[in-house]
Amino acid sequence: MRETQFAVIGLGRFGSSVAQELVQLGHEVLGIDRNESVVNDMSELLTHVVAADASDEDMLRSIGIRNFHCVVVAIGDDIQASILTALLLIELGVEKVVAKALSPLHGKVLQKIGVNRVIYPERDMGVRVANQLVSPNLLDY
Ligand code: ATP
Repeated sequence: MRETQFAVIGLGRFGSSVAQELVQLGHEVLGIDRNESVVNDMSELLTHVVAADASDEDMLRSIGIRNFHCVVVAIGDDIQASILTALLLIELGVEKVVAKALSPLHGKVLQKIGVNRVIYPERDMGVRVANQLVSPNLLDY
């Protein structure tokens, strides 16, 4: 499996945006979501899609998740599913686990269990917008 393969778990607004942008950038992306209609909507846009509960260890093993270079956990409201999934990914040996947090406490737990990068979408976007407002010549990053 090539180094540029990504998996995105949870295809809500954030996850689907990350996944589609990675495809635009030329990478192969597997999208996973437990909601079948979400998966159907994304099936033409991503390299592969799977409709499944990502906190199911057997499922993660069966799709060979440990071979993916980077897995993004973009599950939001279901904090338990987010934490369980991130922990399984780390235990199964995924090289880089990135996870979205909805609150500082959620983020703290993700960090403590070993997630490589925790993202706070609203907070991070706020910082980015503020920087762009004071430095309009800054390239979009
Ligand atoms: P966003 O703001 O990115 O739209 P959100 O923070 O509101 O998302 P949710 O809508 O709760 O977060 O979750 C994002 C997606 O993750 C949903 O499409 C949901 O079906 C999916 N999801 C939630 N739990 C699991 C799980 N255990 N396994 C797979 N997918 C899941």
